[in-house]
Amino acid sequence: MKFISYSNTTFKKTEYYQQLPEEERNIFDVLSSVFHFKVNNYVLENLIDWDAVPNDPIYKLIFPRKEMLSAVDFETLKMLYRSGLDNKTLIPFIQRVKRKMYPEVKQTDTSIPKMNGERIRGMYSNFGTIVSLFPDPMSRTCHSYCSYCFRWIMFNDKEAQQNSSYKDPNEPVAFLREHPEITDVLFTGADPLVLNAKILQKYIDPILDIESVKVIRISSKSLGWWPFRFTTDKDADELLKLFRYIQSRGKHLNFCAHFTHVRELENEEVKKAITRIRETGTVIRCQGPLVEGINDTPEDWSNLWNAQIALGMVPYYMFIEADHNSESCFRIPLAKALQIFQEAQKKTTGLARTVRGPVFMNDLHRTLLDGVITINDERFFVLKSLQAPPDIEGEGKIKLIPFDEHTKDAGNLIELFKEEKDIVNSNVLML
Ligand code: SF4
Repeated sequence: MKFISYSNTTFKKTEYYQQLPEEERNIFDVLSSVFHFKVNNYVLENLIDWDAVPNDPIYKLIFPRKEMLSAVDFETLKMLYRSGLDNKTLIPFIQRVKRKMYPEVKQTDTSIPKMNGERIRGMYSNFGTIVSLFPDPMSRTCHSYCSYCFRWIMFNDKEAQQNSSYKDPNEPVAFLREHPEITDVLFTGADPLVLNAKILQKYIDPILDIESVKVIRISSKSLGWWPFRFTTDKDADELLKLFRYIQSRGKHLNFCAHFTHVRELENEEVKKAITRIRETGTVIRCQGPLVEGINDTPEDWSNLWNAQIALGMVPYYMFIEADHNSESCFRIPLAKALQIFQEAQKKTTGLARTVRGPVFMNDLHRTLLDGVITINDERFFVLKSLQAPPDIEGEGKIKLIPFDEHTKDAGNLIELFKEEKDIVNSNVLML
């Protein structure tokens, strides 16, 4: 299949747009002027069940939803659109709304590595043994965009891309040599696998020379959004050769595959792609967020994990959605998330117990929502720190926060795990 990408303007020229119910077309027109939108022909033709729109999970995974904006902003934008104003007049208002929606990503003092007092561009160090790398070409785009993505401002903002990525493949080398405690390097983006194999190799090669780096991780949703990347794309064989080469250099290669719904795993092309990757010796570990209206039942997750196991992959993380949308429309309440995880585990093969969840992501503190307990007739959520920034020394600690059936928020996890207070005075108990 030849890759064809549709933006918010080119999608409007397709038969799919014409077939959308009128209300959905209006929502698309308004929302895609503010938020990111990109879809490809494989997703349109193979993954979305158009008869089930607007409730189809893959449709919801791609298309922006009305709840992403406040009711006031949505209605105002809709009215402006209907009034027939030209784009030039609309743009200042769209920009104002857009700025309000910019996601705020937390950082700690240690999360941006420095050398000689200078920040190293495109490198993030969340935990003691791993760094994330953002080479410039990898941070630009993906094969399709997920509606819940919190990295969306990067997609069209060249300045933001340049400020948070690096161009020279050797840029991270000196830092990594000075920090032999860092054993894992994660290439991330947007999606690193939109790049051709040659450019990927240019960025990965200098890292392979560093003895103390033992694990190369590549984070990608390409198996879900474009499995042809590993089967019929021009450089598919070259990419798989690169996977073999990384391992021949003595590194473990971990493919962090992002899947949201079992449908992404059901067609023959993705199965073929998974087989080809596994034949290189690469381990595919799967992760994805729990998202309102897309995968928010225990069956969604048991089906997903069972399919991953059947295809030889390792279920790894069920994330609590990052909640960077200021209307919180993608995150579900924590109590419900926990119940979905626990119920889903009961329905899966024991082999799927490798998965940790629900786990808070992107708070620079990887925290497991581990259960609910009752002490003196009071209920608490049990939170366990799986990984924490080195300055916090929180790893392994357990904290309790008051149970609330409706809350979507556990508060500031970085501050929570810094605290040494007990339950007597603080509502927070450290065990
Ligand atoms: S594939 Fe990843 S980076 Fe790309 S839109 Fe989806 S969540 Fe965002």
